[in-house]
Amino acid sequence: MLYDVIIIGAGPGGIFSAYELTKKAPDLKVAVFECGNALHKRRCPIDGKKIKSCINCPSCSIMSGFGGAGAFSDGKYNITNDFGGTLYEYIGKEEAMNLMHYVDAINMEFGGEGTKLYSTAGTKLKKRCMQNDLHLLEASVRHLGTDKNYIVLEHIYDYLKDKVDFFFNKQVDTITVADDGYCAVCGAERYVGKKCIVSVGRSGSKWMERICKELAIPTKSNRVDLGVRVELPAEIFSELTDELYESKIVYRTPKYGDMVRTFCMNPKGAVVSENTNGIITVNGHSYEDPARQTGNTNFALLVSKHFSEPFKDSNGYGESIAKLSNMLGGGVLVQRFGDLIRGQRSTPKRMEESFTVPTLSASPGDLSLVLPKRILDGIIEMIYALDKVAPGTANDDTLLYGVEVKFYNMEVAVDII
Ligand SMILES: Cc1cc2nc3c(=O)[nH]c(=O)nc-3n(C[C@H](O)[C@H](O)[C@H](O)COP(=O)(O)OP(=O)(O)OC[C@H]3O[C@@H](n4cnc5c(N)ncnc54)[C@H](O)[C@@H]3O)c2cc1C
Repeated sequence: MLYDVIIIGAGPGGIFSAYELTKKAPDLKVAVFECGNALHKRRCPIDGKKIKSCINCPSCSIMSGFGGAGAFSDGKYNITNDFGGTLYEYIGKEEAMNLMHYVDAINMEFGGEGTKLYSTAGTKLKKRCMQNDLHLLEASVRHLGTDKNYIVLEHIYDYLKDKVDFFFNKQVDTITVADDGYCAVCGAERYVGKKCIVSVGRSGSKWMERICKELAIPTKSNRVDLGVRVELPAEIFSELTDELYESKIVYRTPKYGDMVRTFCMNPKGAVVSENTNGIITVNGHSYEDPARQTGNTNFALLVSKHFSEPFKDSNGYGESIAKLSNMLGGGVLVQRFGDLIRGQRSTPKRMEESFTVPTLSASPGDLSLVLPKRILDGIIEMIYALDKVAPGTANDDTLLYGVEVKFYNMEVAVDII
């Protein structure tokens, strides 16, 4: 079948590409290929009762399907150039901000109206962070919430479904160069597009590595972010989260000079597990509807590891560490901060005695057997630093889930603009 544009991946990248094409070039014939399910068929079987941990579904509903990894995400849209991407390196900071506001306007049009836009502008918390050697990054944050985010996606799908051909449960095995463009090979089927947009996200990062090699597209990648997800009573972080919702705080550890940062803060949220190519890691989200919120706040503490020559496989490094936690815990591990500091594993009994009740059923264990010392030391130092701006962060019953890994797709060389 011949298309003007074929898009691989129906995450936010693929969806917004399709949306733009329908607006700017409505006559083009566009197809989207997605290896996961349509939105209404996406359901993670973990219910905390019958199924407590990841059962390795053929397609992880948290990571794949219409909406991509974003479908059950917290729907936090950070409007900033200070973190979260490097688009500004290609198009300049002003244009990048304009585009973020443009996306925000689309989300509002498709059901997000009435949600709150938080901002760090003028906050006194910045000074308090600085006084404690912590650095609060500037941002505005739109919080749609997992529930509203889903509604926005439903509406965008309703808008797109008659304008674009969607192929769900359609894994693209490979891309080949065709006479008149590119060919998406899906088993015995072939779909040709004059142009091809690849937007396969984190779950497609290994696939993308292979495709770039096959098509001789130059890439570079040597970064992985590793750490834990912290969960504590919402009251402890409420001063920060009530005003800012999400605070991106960076800390340089005195011991190694490594940068540790907070990431993806979910006030009154839930911790979830996610499956990337068979490896189970943690993440978090929260609802906008107060009836669905929990009593806990969660956020990640991540250390960025950049490797230098000759080592090239940063994602492989992150994977090996995640595999270790899966080996010891059968999935995600959880440990009380007090146990970690005392050098003892958390046991089911110690977890039962914990005043902080976990929102994810994970195996009590010992993160010091999983995370490299340098990374763990950085996380512990950051927890003590955060304790000065949010007293109680370093309490015994603060829960640490491991591991959280952010795999980065390698950067693809571009010849724009
Ligand atoms: C629980 C959770 C909470 C999150 N919370 C937030 C948040 O609040 N704010 C935020 O900014 N980000 C959040 N994120 C991250 C955010 O979801 C991602 O940054 C975003 O989804 C990336 O968009 P993408 O389109 O690049 O890739 P993805 O969303 O990963 O989409 C890629 C799609 O491509 C498909 N695919 C991959 N390979 C193939 C193939 N070979 N053939 C066909 N299809 C393929 C995948 O199935 C997937 O659906 C969260 C993620 C998770 C898991």
